[in-house]
Amino acid sequence: MKKEVIIVGAGVIGCSIAYHLARRGVPSQIVDKEGIADRASGKAWAIWEYPPAVCSTLNFVWTESVLSILADPEFDSARAQMHDERQSMFELHWLGFHRVPEAILEIQERGGIDVGYRELPFMRLALSEEVEEVYRQGLSEVRSAGCREGGWLTRDEAREVFPGISPRVRGGACFPGFKVEPYRYTLCLAQAAEKMGCTIRSGEVVGFGSKGSRVSSVVLASGAEIEADEVVLATGPWTGKASAWLGKELPVEIHREQCIRVELPRPFPPYGIWTTKGAIIPEIDNKVILHSFEGWPDLATGLDCSLTEENKLSAIEIATELFPEIEKGSVVEHRGDLEAWAPVLRMQPVLGRHPAWENAYLASRFGTFGFALSLSAGELMADLIVGGGRGPYRVERLLEFLSCTELKDDER
Ligand SMILES: Cc1cc2nc3c(=O)[nH]c(=O)nc-3n(C[C@H](O)[C@H](O)[C@H](O)COP(=O)(O)OP(=O)(O)OC[C@H]3O[C@@H](n4cnc5c(N)ncnc54)[C@H](O)[C@@H]3O)c2cc1C
Repeated sequence: MKKEVIIVGAGVIGCSIAYHLARRGVPSQIVDKEGIADRASGKAWAIWEYPPAVCSTLNFVWTESVLSILADPEFDSARAQMHDERQSMFELHWLGFHRVPEAILEIQERGGIDVGYRELPFMRLALSEEVEEVYRQGLSEVRSAGCREGGWLTRDEAREVFPGISPRVRGGACFPGFKVEPYRYTLCLAQAAEKMGCTIRSGEVVGFGSKGSRVSSVVLASGAEIEADEVVLATGPWTGKASAWLGKELPVEIHREQCIRVELPRPFPPYGIWTTKGAIIPEIDNKVILHSFEGWPDLATGLDCSLTEENKLSAIEIATELFPEIEKGSVVEHRGDLEAWAPVLRMQPVLGRHPAWENAYLASRFGTFGFALSLSAGELMADLIVGGGRGPYRVERLLEFLSCTELKDDER
């Protein structure tokens, strides 16, 4: 199939789409105003959590700001859709999760980069009776969904895994998971796609040319125009702005997410940890990533992604409370960037053909799950493009749900 597919955005989503297209024999051209994985895709923790855990009550972060959003009457209208959304997210997560080990081996082989892949079980540790109850309920939701992996870790078992852990830890729910190094993984996808015919180009897209109901070209800030048979917007937080050039703005809520990397005197046990306040994610060698949920969601205004000292100190304080030994570590990096979400904290990515155009596609709003969803998003989008806007029957309903319905009735 000979098509000029232009993918705007060299984040993990754009690069995964290019990779999956290339595997199907369709070369593409990726255009980015910055470099490969320069934004959130180069700064994430890059973990794949066990899908049933992500989509159960286990995943709630009961911060003050989340509780106030849940109490907001505006959230009521969104609440009704939540059940379907969770179900769809669950399916989307599974589509990628079950093939992570094999898919990543193949990506590494084709791209020629060690992406730092490994298994990383994840624990949600309870520090109070109330949270223990929520987590136990989450575990039984996972069980009643028919999922057998993972289990409850008692207080003593937690101590055995983490000698020196705070005596407040009452135990927790533990599930399988995976991790990669975000920049290398995204670069490897791009490099693998490149070896199969994809080209990568630097440039800021500022608009599109059209002929009837087809987008015919992508216009760059330099004035250059690239001819296109198909166009994909994988523009993350900039998707609102970019979709407006196609006639109507897709609603996108932008969150700022930060973390710090700390080098410890000795390796951290090979388990990721969540509490309701923060997270600790071990990396290879002696480094760990620390994250604070304090003040989450941190809604960004005007695409401001400057990092705050407050967030850094909070991440250190929360981790030290849990593991006093973390105080002996030294901060090696404070990093973060912007994420695109569906409005009002909802988990609804958009993945599909723009309803007003025959050949324009959108892949965005992956929130804090862009890595976990990168394989399924790349594969489904490649299937859609190859199928001229029609996806495989096995995921038809899922794609219908994820399609760009909010852009319907577009007045171009
Ligand atoms: C601190 C942190 C931790 C995270 N941890 C995880 C995790 O553990 N697991 C997980 O699954 N996810 C995680 N995420 C979320 C994940 O990083 C994002 O969901 C993912 O990177 C989104 O990828 P993307 O390709 O959609 O967007 P981006 O990475 O934002 O890429 C979009 C690209 O589009 C380009 N672009 C935009 N507009 C234009 C234009 N007009 N012209 C040309 N180029 C344009 C931008 O330059 C950018 O490179 C985390 C995020 C952060 C910040």
